[in-house]
Amino acid sequence: MTSSAAPTATDSLWITTCVWFMSAVVRIVEQTMTTTEDTQPETDPSALLETLSPSRAGDFKVCPQLFKFKAIDRIEVPPTVYQARGTTAHLALQWLFDLSAEKRTPETLYELFRKAWVDLRDEEYPELFDNTADEREWGLESLKVLANYFLIEDPTQLEPLDRELDMTEDLGEMTIRGILDRMEEEPDGLVITDYKTGKAPPEQYAIPAFFALKIYALLIRKRIGRTPVRLKLMYLNGPTVYQIPVTDAQLDATQRKLEALWAAINRAIVANDFPPRPGKLCGWCSFQDRCPAFADKPDDVAAAS
Ligand code: SF4
Repeated sequence: MTSSAAPTATDSLWITTCVWFMSAVVRIVEQTMTTTEDTQPETDPSALLETLSPSRAGDFKVCPQLFKFKAIDRIEVPPTVYQARGTTAHLALQWLFDLSAEKRTPETLYELFRKAWVDLRDEEYPELFDNTADEREWGLESLKVLANYFLIEDPTQLEPLDRELDMTEDLGEMTIRGILDRMEEEPDGLVITDYKTGKAPPEQYAIPAFFALKIYALLIRKRIGRTPVRLKLMYLNGPTVYQIPVTDAQLDATQRKLEALWAAINRAIVANDFPPRPGKLCGWCSFQDRCPAFADKPDDVAAAS
């Protein structure tokens, strides 16, 4: 049997003090939890996008991890013979239109290609070839690709308005930056042209390549207030030309897509979340050996991708 005595005044004061103390502790704990849950870590504003190029926008669309390797980590990869051919051919074609129309012959273009290669080789591609025989073979193959140019266009009948044009424009919150290959005035309006020295993909796979050209058309519309009428992809290794008409409505849609991409990239930067998206491109991706999507795959599986 237990017995209990009636509480004294001292006991009541002790109990009241304990209740007040426990309430205060609960309030402090609640406040601490609220503060911890509601406060996000501050994002360094300098980490967010400042500019975006059409090619990096395309990278993010295809594979966010690829975008990270190139644009965030800025990992340098050794140049390839294909890149060297593309850069040198672009320079030679740019110079071709510095000359008067009657001088724009295949022989002149070959000579300009050789000159462009001499200018670029030591600076940008010093270790591309192991020996002069390989370099010569590459050069001859490149001239064959350039010869195709004259099968799809007569440069004596053309006076481009601009070549290798540096395009940097603000579109709303975004700043878009890139180099436009060529723009010409044709009877029905402005045409934006992009040279490719690689092989043309089947027509249905060429559509994504027009995304970058639509962005350039958007930048031209912003800069000079005219909407190009056509976008043209010239694949010299084939050769093949793909063209599509372009309208204001398409360019408005392109701007909305670009805004969505810009926002998605910034969200990825804040969350540091750039998921790999394995696909057909992986077989040509220079970053496969460090890509998380291939981390656990045996070499023969990775090679087959
Ligand atoms: S290997 Fe494939 S998944 Fe990985 S970064 Fe390259 S394209 Fe993306």
